[in-house]
Amino acid sequence: HLQLTDIDLAFGTHRVVRKLSLRLEKGRIGCLLGPSGCGKTTVLRCIAGFEHVAAGEVRLDGQLVSSRDIHVAPEQRRIGMVFQDYALFPHLTVAENVAFGLRGATPEEKRARVDELLTTVGLADQGAKYPHELSGGQQQRVALARALAPRPALLLLDEPFSNLDVELRERLSHEVRDIIKASGTTAILVTHDQHEAFAVADEIGIMHEGRIQQWDTPYNLYHRPANRFVADFIGQGV
Ligand code: ATP
Repeated sequence: HLQLTDIDLAFGTHRVVRKLSLRLEKGRIGCLLGPSGCGKTTVLRCIAGFEHVAAGEVRLDGQLVSSRDIHVAPEQRRIGMVFQDYALFPHLTVAENVAFGLRGATPEEKRARVDELLTTVGLADQGAKYPHELSGGQQQRVALARALAPRPALLLLDEPFSNLDVELRERLSHEVRDIIKASGTTAILVTHDQHEAFAVADEIGIMHEGRIQQWDTPYNLYHRPANRFVADFIGQGV
């Protein structure tokens, strides 16, 4: 599971994350949803280990990975990432992209894992192609397969569908939920798109100015908003 406790982070004098806490149980998909600039990506970068927290704790499966004094390197956190700007390697084939994070595996093990994942994301016969030969939606599915390949303890997705058209985004949101659920991985999605959040997540945190205003199920956010900001934000999206 993932646990953030009272994390704080500032860029200069600008406090971007304020005493933020959340807990996500194993296998659940959480989402940080909020307007542009509210701090969603910064929280994800703290979890990944790309930012240092000024106060508070980040724990992964109970292990302390971030605090004011402790900082476990990103590559040692067993985290998979699908970021908007974290593109596929253009000079590697689809299969080579998926195999990229499989360090220490034999060639046979790698081939078996790549085949399994490409089948999972519906691209079983596309392994020999290069990224530019695939559509945007297919490329994002390859990115998801690549992130899941090393069996991460946690998967982070930052606006993974934002470059896609609305129709594809909707279809892929449901597919991605199914794929993540089938893998059993705990995941956190960051988005400003309410439809995407509701399609993918089990639990959603509505963020505003560096704080989570309400962390709840989609149903409760809709029917029992904790405050005016949540009610207005959810109201705008439907
Ligand atoms: P968006 O949906 O637009 O990506 P966001 O909710 O993910 O927004 P963040 O990217 O986390 O927001 O940014 C939160 C605030 O922190 C913004 O005001 C941003 O300008 C500021 N910020 C982010 N990264 C840095 C940085 N490296 N240095 C200084 N300020 C930063």
